[in-house]
Amino acid sequence: MEKTLVYACRTKDREVLAKSSSGGAFTAISDYFLDRGDAVLCSAYNYDEHRARFGLVFTKEERDAARGSMYMQSYALDSWKEGLMWLRQNPDRMLLFTGTGCQGAAFRKFMEMNGMAKRAFIVDLICHGAPSPKIWAEYARSLEREGRLSNLNFKNKKTGWSKSVGTVCRGGEEISIRKYRRIYTDRYTIRPSCHVCPYTRIDRETDITIGDFWHMEKSMPDFVDEMGTSLVLIHTERGEELFDKIKDKLDCRESNTVDCWQLNLEEPTKPSEIRHKFWSDYRKHGIDYCMEHYGSVTLMRRIERKIKKMLP
Ligand SMILES: Cc1cc2nc3c(=O)[nH]c(=O)nc-3n(C[C@H](O)[C@H](O)[C@H](O)COP(=O)(O)OP(=O)(O)OC[C@H]3O[C@@H](n4cnc5c(N)ncnc54)[C@H](O)[C@@H]3O)c2cc1C
Repeated sequence: MEKTLVYACRTKDREVLAKSSSGGAFTAISDYFLDRGDAVLCSAYNYDEHRARFGLVFTKEERDAARGSMYMQSYALDSWKEGLMWLRQNPDRMLLFTGTGCQGAAFRKFMEMNGMAKRAFIVDLICHGAPSPKIWAEYARSLEREGRLSNLNFKNKKTGWSKSVGTVCRGGEEISIRKYRRIYTDRYTIRPSCHVCPYTRIDRETDITIGDFWHMEKSMPDFVDEMGTSLVLIHTERGEELFDKIKDKLDCRESNTVDCWQLNLEEPTKPSEIRHKFWSDYRKHGIDYCMEHYGSVTLMRRIERKIKKMLP
């Protein structure tokens, strides 16, 4: 396709919107494949291992468990091979893949090498960077000392999408994981390769890219919704065809590559200036020390943040 098509959209189903990290584009797209009897290869959280892992999904119930952004690198394990085998065994079916930009590019290559590129529809995510899965797993285990975890939600919209909070249930009680979110957004734990990511751009080799539509209050204030909006970038003709088929499930507005701008569509996230100090402290003092020390906001930092927000 000559140029990328850009849309702001959100699912018309308010219950799905509340459970999705952005505007529910993933659910709308995957519904289309699942309704036809196709398979979806995506990531879900595993509470026994405390890690995100890719897996093949055939039902909406299984897919629902994959909703929500998980701020950790997801493990592919054998799932891509399983996807390939499933395609071989089901020659008239398609496979939808969802993952970060690097995973989408790798999966596309894998499908090409196996002569299956036409049968894999690839959706990638805009990505700030995937944090170390080891740090999350250790933190989760440390929280679990006081009760089993469930209902993990890195982007809980109970206070709205723009003020979303990280939460998890422990022994039935909801607790905050804001310290973990802070060390992620402060860039201490993002994997080194993410800081030189070649997929932080608008044009990609996948069919569709999805993410959050930020700064809408400037470009389309009458379309803002406090429960979040998806940004959808369409790169291929079959991506456009698919979007036409699912459009009636979404409230949509056409946009452009200027109004949808965000940093990770232009360049990778820069590493924190004190990243090495975080890791050295982690090796010396362990996870609890680092969460307390780097995850808490001191009065000085709160003032710094307020001033930054006030600047144009
Ligand atoms: C680590 C990470 C960083 C992100 N950074 C940005 C950003 O800077 N800007 C932005 O606009 N959007 C970012 N996103 C994407 C955004 O948060 C939403 O995931 C995306 O818009 C899809 O939302 P949704 O409402 O359509 O779907 P949801 O129903 O929320 O589904 C989320 C989809 O993402 C997949 N997924 C979740 N976690 C992972 C993971 N760790 N690895 C691989 N796949 C995963 C799920 O399998 C599912 O397919 C990021 C996502 C992740 C996982």
